[in-house]
Amino acid sequence: MKKNVFSLEGKLALITGGGSGIGFNIAQCMIEAGARVVITGRREHALAESVEALGESAQYVVNDVTELSLLEGLVAHIETHIGPIDILVNNAGINMKKPALEVSDEDFQRIVHTNLNAVFALTRACARRMIERRNGSILMISSMAAYYGIDRVVAYAASKSGVEGMVKVLASEFSKYNVRINAIAPGFIETAMMQTAMSSDPDRMNKALNRTPMGKFGKPDDVGWAAVFLASEGARYITGASLPVDGGNSVGF
Ligand code: NDP
Repeated sequence: MKKNVFSLEGKLALITGGGSGIGFNIAQCMIEAGARVVITGRREHALAESVEALGESAQYVVNDVTELSLLEGLVAHIETHIGPIDILVNNAGINMKKPALEVSDEDFQRIVHTNLNAVFALTRACARRMIERRNGSILMISSMAAYYGIDRVVAYAASKSGVEGMVKVLASEFSKYNVRINAIAPGFIETAMMQTAMSSDPDRMNKALNRTPMGKFGKPDDVGWAAVFLASEGARYITGASLPVDGGNSVGF
């Protein structure tokens, strides 16, 4: 039988923020592609419900990514009790909408700490082990906010731009060890995060749709399938890339 290069059979994926939204759908798509997944988040009830929905290929560990000192222990725990992590998906993230001059130092640090500092700390913990095994794929869930000047998301855009820069450096450093790292930059994807962002500005929904050449918002599994592709053997020559999943925003914003 011909090998399916997009299969994730035999792989273990760690997906942060997998208890809801895009992270949950990435978990679902990766399981459909044959992987086992470990999802993390702060809310145990959301994780437990998600694991029940995902079935026997999923497990959860309660973890707050902002507790940087606990991330090494998280990875060690998973590798000891569940198995070597083949795929890391840095998906957990937060946003906040405020005009730049109203953003306090605390606001800025909170967003950057979750979306950038924690992403680096967890990536480092996983990459060490992947490099030893000469095998691994790391995905960053970035945002089109890293590409464009979107009003009122200064801290979020700074954090996601940082992630995009990190991807290029780490791709260069890790390539010789057969560890790939790529970003996915979603556009407007229908999740709780997007609903919160849109509800503060009713006009924004129409503006966003008008700016999207495909004329519709993305579904979380549109990001999920892109994640499956980038994590798979089919993408084995792709590293340091940022893939827009945005219905065409990046060509017509
Ligand atoms: P949601 O708010 O629906 O989900 C975010 C997830 O992150 C939750 O499961 C949450 O779990 C987890 N999370 C947040 N903070 C922490 C933390 N400190 N520690 C561990 N987990 C945490 O957002 P989306 O699904 O929409 O977003 C997922 C990713 O996609 C984010 O990185 C976001 O920036 C990005 N993105 C989303 C877009 C969209 O349109 N929706 C567009 C572009 C990018 P819990 O609360 O249990 O901790």
